[in-house]
Amino acid sequence: MADTRAEIGVIGGSGFYSFLEDVTEVAVDTPYGSPSDSLFLGELGGRKVAFLPRHGRNHKVPPHRINYRANLWALRSVGVRQVLGPCAVGGLRPEYGPGTLLVPDQLVDRTKTRAQTYFDGEPRPDGTVPNVVHATFADPYCPVGRSVAIKSARDHEWDAVDGGTMVVVEGPRFSTRAESRWHAAAGWSVVGMTGHPEAVLARELALCYTSIALVTDLDAGTETGEGVSHTEVMRVFGENVGRLRKVLFDAVAGLPRTEDRDCLCTGVHDGWDLGIELP
Ligand SMILES: [Zn+2]
Repeated sequence: MADTRAEIGVIGGSGFYSFLEDVTEVAVDTPYGSPSDSLFLGELGGRKVAFLPRHGRNHKVPPHRINYRANLWALRSVGVRQVLGPCAVGGLRPEYGPGTLLVPDQLVDRTKTRAQTYFDGEPRPDGTVPNVVHATFADPYCPVGRSVAIKSARDHEWDAVDGGTMVVVEGPRFSTRAESRWHAAAGWSVVGMTGHPEAVLARELALCYTSIALVTDLDAGTETGEGVSHTEVMRVFGENVGRLRKVLFDAVAGLPRTEDRDCLCTGVHDGWDLGIELP
């Protein structure tokens, strides 16, 4: 029987796993419904990895309709404790042009409609009721995962920006020029549509989460042309997916073993009475 466990999760498109040998597809159901797609399990550098296409394998799930709770729950349920989240973003500063890789250390949530907690006091389908608890989120990303990702990028001569603020908007539309100028004036670095609630749900499940943001365009307030287009975003992503894959794979190999994790992410439940069992 194929192994259906993994220790590291990568939430990203099929470009990251489709050429791996011996990929096992595992369909996972969760108390929150179905994830975006099956998990695709494989081995990389001796580490067991679960890939999850964030938008589904045919890219049919837009950012605001992704079942983020099911996605993170599904990963945890196969054993994942550390997650890498590559994503496409817009640059909010002229120096963060297409092809920039940025590993943010802060996040601003401007989403509107997304379920962003497991601990809402609402009964679940199996009758269990999670308690209401409040996650510590001052530092939303895993410091260990961040440093591993930055080192991996620099090993591939990609000088990743170490830190910055990712503002996450609801989408699926891109920002207006006024919104974009506002985001830039606030001092934020990049704008995306999927980095939240992915980050906070990972934290609630005591998973280490690292966002790795590839700039595919300058946002509307920063550039002077027609504004952001989906075609341009896809073109730049396609140009960079090969080297991003290399960075991700090295980062996977560089992450600590599950039992060796020593970071703020692991202690998030200290003093909590969750009311439910985590998988
Ligand atoms: Zn961590």
